Amino acid sequence: MKAWKAILADGISAAYGHLRPLGDAAGCRVLMYHALGTKVDGDKLRVYSIEPARFRQQMDCLTALGRERIVGLDAGIEACAGLVITFDDGYRDTLTVAAPLLVELGFPFSVFVAPGLVRSRDQRYLSENELRELSSLPGVNIGAHGDSHCRLTDCDDRKLSNELSYSRAWLEDVLARPVTTMSYPHGAVDGRVRSAAAAAGYSLAACSRFGAHPSGGDPLLIARTDIWAQDDVTRFNAKLAGRWDWMKWRT
Ligand SMILES: [Zn+2]
Repeated sequence: MKAWKAILADGISAAYGHLRPLGDAAGCRVLMYHALGTKVDGDKLRVYSIEPARFRQQMDCLTALGRERIVGLDAGIEACAGLVITFDDGYRDTLTVAAPLLVELGFPFSVFVAPGLVRSRDQRYLSENELRELSSLPGVNIGAHGDSHCRLTDCDDRKLSNELSYSRAWLEDVLARPVTTMSYPHGAVDGRVRSAAAAAGYSLAACSRFGAHPSGGDPLLIARTDIWAQDDVTRFNAKLAGRWDWMKWRT
């Protein structure tokens, strides 16, 4: 994010916080992470790869709130409360950087993996064996993220169904456990894609709309809070408090 835009956004967030002091009572807040140090394709604003030291700082903020506040995706959405940690895409650093820290802290987390990226043998992403290793760690939930990581809203009905069903079947086969959660690649979802996700057997699906998941919210359209490489402690805590939720109105 450009410096002047970040300053403007911080200012809007401070004002929004004064107008609407949401605090922690806004439902379940699902944090969205991507990579921790690895280069992310198409990340023009360089927001999606967070330095490991900054990630640790953010986890320290969560620890300060109380370990019991960090819950798994299922539990958080069911109770409409707590903070949930999620990673998209299945970068190798989710296993090598995030997992050791999160397991040590006792924080559960979800990883949404596009099998096509695993099969690509691109070294930035988890291999099949590494995916199994990640899945076997305590508190880890693996969900799907389409198969080829394409925008599902651009797919015709047949391809859409294949992307949703094949990714789920592939992950269930590799991990030998049920897969019922997913996130929409690039946050691309509309009514047709949501219905197809339901038909493919998913019970929880996260999108990239900014905000917290409210009581009575659609479990197949779970809002998330996007965490960026530039989020220092002040901005991270502001996002946790809902002060950046005005971003949902961005065009
Ligand atoms: Zn993705």
